[in-house]
Amino acid sequence: MSDTAEQSTPPMTVTGPGDRSGAAGRPLAAEAARLDAADPLRALRDRFVLDEETVYLDGNSLGALPRGVAPRMAEVIGHEWGRMRIRSWEESGWWTAPERVGDRIGELIGAAPGQVVVSDSTSVNVFKAVVAAVRVARADAAEAPGGAPDGPVRDEILVDATSFPTDGYIAESAARMTGCVLRPVAPGEIVGALGPRTAVVLVNHVDYRTGRLHDLPGITAAVHAAGARVVWDLCHSAGALPVGLDEHGVDLAVGCTYKYLNGGPGAPAYLYVARALQPRFDSPLPGWNSHADPFGMEPRYTPADGAVRGRVGTPDILSLLALEAALDAWDGVEVTAVRAKSLALTDFFLRCVGAYVPPGRVEPVTPEAHGERGSQVSLRCLPGRPAGAGTGNGAGAAAGAGSGADGVPAAGAVMAELIRRGVVGDFRRPDVLRFGFTPLYTGFADVERAAWVLAEVLRDQDAAGGPAAPGDPAAVPATGPRPAADAVPAAGGGAGKEARPL
Ligand SMILES: *Cc1c(COP(=O)(O)O)cnc(C)c1O
Repeated sequence: MSDTAEQSTPPMTVTGPGDRSGAAGRPLAAEAARLDAADPLRALRDRFVLDEETVYLDGNSLGALPRGVAPRMAEVIGHEWGRMRIRSWEESGWWTAPERVGDRIGELIGAAPGQVVVSDSTSVNVFKAVVAAVRVARADAAEAPGGAPDGPVRDEILVDATSFPTDGYIAESAARMTGCVLRPVAPGEIVGALGPRTAVVLVNHVDYRTGRLHDLPGITAAVHAAGARVVWDLCHSAGALPVGLDEHGVDLAVGCTYKYLNGGPGAPAYLYVARALQPRFDSPLPGWNSHADPFGMEPRYTPADGAVRGRVGTPDILSLLALEAALDAWDGVEVTAVRAKSLALTDFFLRCVGAYVPPGRVEPVTPEAHGERGSQVSLRCLPGRPAGAGTGNGAGAAAGAGSGADGVPAAGAVMAELIRRGVVGDFRRPDVLRFGFTPLYTGFADVERAAWVLAEVLRDQDAAGGPAAPGDPAAVPATGPRPAADAVPAAGGGAGKEARPL
């Protein structure tokens, strides 16, 4: 496996994450160093609080902390809240923060100002968007020539069947409340499933589990041609690749801000309402913050104009202002450059995995084609020699952490051990290792090291374990995705990863 020509020149002379675990002698370490040296975004890493001991490949789940956030929060808490108190709603710009921060996110997702509002969680915004979209689709149908009651009924909501579960749960409730039927459809089959009854399609831009990028322009155009409306969930694409909401005529979109946008745990989500749709956006949660005259305290609801219609109640000011400070990490950064680096990182990771990992132990489930790949690589762990049969060493301990009585198979043990060795990705049941690549702060040496450590963990586990004993949960063959179990905590805690959402 080692390349002697490369070995004879020390691959790295600068300090970096690659060095610390002994990059010398690793065939692709020198190339990683060259790629880092040529990376135009390399300096952006300094905008984040990170430690050199850890390769953090979970920024698609919880982005790292941008340096500017802590000092800004000290000011917000000490001065704006501590001294200014209620005056800050006006004088510190708290009241208008949802739209102001929304416009900054808009820049990253291709939305002109005035169409994005930061508010609530993604789950809540899915609800607002889907119900409002059904209302618009029904109104469209009624207004069409030969419209209701003779026109199409528009009583179906199509939902991405591979979706992150919350979207499906919320869409199911929205369907019941609006008298619609919910039809789960794989994204690749949405276009063929559209018809005169389709009211709304809710679909993810990037699949959270596999990292597959779906065809936003094509699906949006097909949904519109069928007379329906589309809601895109951008949780795993915003901040990782260009989205082009305005360019592609998207109706509504939602997304969270704590993944690639680094807004922090529980940072509020956003809702995009295309300008043309705003006068017809009829929110199912018409709280006082979205009233045309919020301080008029009128008993009758009159919606405000514009994206403000997406607001509900009092904003989470502390989280919202942390997010605003976090977005400074994007100053001067082009999303196209981020995308270029993201693809280079995932390409390089796939190459390193191919070169280092023993054959037959993992299999990429993320598409090879750039046009179908988000900013993560998901690897399915193949049975190999399952962990769990070994005793008294690191691999055995890791197996104990990950293959408990709840039937979590060997992939959980592999990720627990990777995390213990300083490579933080995550695990999705039943057998997927997920690695997120955040171009603002992940380098090529990180990528190379992650693949090397993964290979070591798999080799160590194979060396420690024999075939799993009958009845060992690690021996249970994978039966396909079980999205509903995604957030179930692992028995015994393991590395704690299973208790973390998304
Ligand atoms: C992360 C994620 C969510 C998160 O929803 P919350 O309401 O913030 O918990 C929703 N949908 C998708 C597709 C996600 O990836």
